[in-house]
Amino acid sequence: MARPKQEVRRISARTELCGIVLHPAGHTRSPAMHNAAFAEAGIDAVYLAFDVHPDQLEDALVAARALGVRQLAVSLPHKEAVLAHLDEVETCARAIGAVNTVTLRDGRLVGTNTDWIGAVHALERNVELAGARVIVLGAGGTARALVYGLVERGALVTVLNRTPERAQVLADDLGAVGAGPLRDLAQTPHEVLVNTTSVGLRTDDSPVPAADLLAESLVMDVVYDPEETRLLRDARTRGASTITGKWMLVYQAAEQFRDWTGREAPLDVMASAFDEAGGS
Ligand code: NAP
Repeated sequence: MARPKQEVRRISARTELCGIVLHPAGHTRSPAMHNAAFAEAGIDAVYLAFDVHPDQLEDALVAARALGVRQLAVSLPHKEAVLAHLDEVETCARAIGAVNTVTLRDGRLVGTNTDWIGAVHALERNVELAGARVIVLGAGGTARALVYGLVERGALVTVLNRTPERAQVLADDLGAVGAGPLRDLAQTPHEVLVNTTSVGLRTDDSPVPAADLLAESLVMDVVYDPEETRLLRDARTRGASTITGKWMLVYQAAEQFRDWTGREAPLDVMASAFDEAGGS
């Protein structure tokens, strides 16, 4: 049976290489989003996914530098370990303790973190963050990026986590105003609620009871597989507004694109590519 014709990208000696390192490979929508953005913006580059075992992360970075890979997104489980192998780490990534983007600049590997700005941009489309009372559920790596960004924008952040001791450490470290266990949600006034726990990732669970959600709040879930999580469905049923994790992912990818190309990203094209790519 004849296969449908596909558009053939012209790859030449001048074509630049970008990519993402992760392990295990699984699904990632980053190649789809970035290749779509390159095509839209007329940038002669390709973006690939590389399954890099943790034992080979250093080798991968040495190779990236030698081959002139222009930008590498860094996904799980490498976001913290990669810091040790870089020439320079930007202040935000140093404070968060995680790098999700390595860009080659004048032969130097420069690490930054675009997760925080992705989350902030997704929220700022809907709410003024300065002075807003924001609850962050979770105290892992993504929570650190969120709390950094929210505090940077002047929000009053409370961190609630299954293990409250971790929430307290994070709050003290990054300047949140409060910390506690997840059950504190019911008695903590807020305008914005962000889930950064992994609860809801490929399951139909929510980190908090539906009854604890406020009708007049804005709820964002960083989980994007599935895009419509149980938490977001519960929030809408309660009358709250919602933002899906897709938007954090798209905005952080847009920031990576801007970081390397110096140009604004074609956001709608990247969002459509996310939709078409499926998987996680
Ligand atoms: P992590 O560092 O492993 O942290 C996981 C967090 O989830 C911890 O706070 C943990 O609580 C909590 N948790 C796990 N299982 C739980 C349960 N059954 N009940 C209550 N809390 C539970 O993970 P991460 O790297 O921050 O990633 C978290 C999520 O963010 C993932 O789903 C990831 O896909 C997503 N993410 C999305 C984007 C985006 O652009 N949209 C970007 C980055 C990450 P304890 O401290 O008590 O263990």
